[in-house]
Amino acid sequence: MTDRRAPLRRLLSALVILTCLTTSCSLRVEPPVEREFSTMGTIARIELHDPGATQDLGTSARTAVAAVFDSVSVLMNTWSPDSEISRLNRAPADSEITLSPWLSRCLARAEQAYAISGGAFDPTAESLMRLWGFYRREGHLPIQSEIDAALAQMGHFSHDPATRLLTKGTSTTAFDLGGIAKGFAVDRAVAELRALGCDSALVDLGGNLFCLGSARGKTGWRVGIRDPENKEQFFAGVTISGRAVATSGSYERFVTIDGRQYGHIMNPATGRPATGLLSATVISSEAVLSDALSTALFVLGPVAALDLLATPVMQDIQAVLVLTPEGRGKTRVLATRSLTDNLTLLPQYRKRYTLEFF
Ligand code: ADP
Ligand code: MG
Repeated sequence: MTDRRAPLRRLLSALVILTCLTTSCSLRVEPPVEREFSTMGTIARIELHDPGATQDLGTSARTAVAAVFDSVSVLMNTWSPDSEISRLNRAPADSEITLSPWLSRCLARAEQAYAISGGAFDPTAESLMRLWGFYRREGHLPIQSEIDAALAQMGHFSHDPATRLLTKGTSTTAFDLGGIAKGFAVDRAVAELRALGCDSALVDLGGNLFCLGSARGKTGWRVGIRDPENKEQFFAGVTISGRAVATSGSYERFVTIDGRQYGHIMNPATGRPATGLLSATVISSEAVLSDALSTALFVLGPVAALDLLATPVMQDIQAVLVLTPEGRGKTRVLATRSLTDNLTLLPQYRKRYTLEFF
């Protein structure tokens, strides 16, 4: 089946289906239809596993899904000066701006994530990303007064999703939806696949996955969770169907300052890169939620993340947290209790990692 996939491709996404973790599949199972392409600064992959899925369907699915990802990029890519979000970020204070439907919807979901996470997920973390040098790709170690100034620029806006009107309170408040846009795009892509009649399919946008139905010849999709200390390997596997999974980790992107690495996920409580976890994985019913909440849990760190996961609003959310090791002990992995019969450490990790359910 997908075992013939080139090793390089496996390096490119944070998660892959278990066909990469196992080495054998039934020869009687027809190979699925697969497409892979670059978009949104990462690699996108779709797999169609419905019986009778044709190459023509693969081509139609690729066209529809690529159009979704390209559209989201044109709206939300902070790296491009021509994107809608970059224009918004340059807008003056007090002018009323009508957002496009998708930007307004995505921002509304980001505001929900802000509320749920007590501000750990903040769509206006742009000022911190800029200060630490992420947009220049050249790190800058700020002094406290610079951090205070960047924090003071955050959060000054009002947005009404009903009318899509947004007004910035200060010209310097700026948005970065990098922690949610890929998940948002995956949900839209899944809607396109469903409209094409696909019931068993995988969408993977740089490690933001949605698993529809089941892989051919399997029950669900076996997904690998990447080792945050060695991202070419997976430390655990979990079976998913009809749900989305995303992982946040500082290993994904960082700047180096004076020989030290600083990750790209900002803690709005301190104005500094978050350090409490090595990675946070979230499994939920929507890719947009998995993306935003994995970022939020990563920011919160182990104690506050567990507190949040215990609240009623998080009842349907499953999480896998890899703790930052203290000293030379084993790396601790904490996972939601409902994953007990599902999540397993891969054999080569059983000596080095401990898995605890909460
Ligand atoms: P990845 O981009 O590797 O998938 P995430 O989904 O965790 O990782 O998103 C990290 C991105 O989110 C950062 O690159 C930045 O664009 C944005 N970001 C950084 N800090 C925050 C934060 N506290 N809240 C919301 N978004 C953030
Ligand atoms: Mg995210």
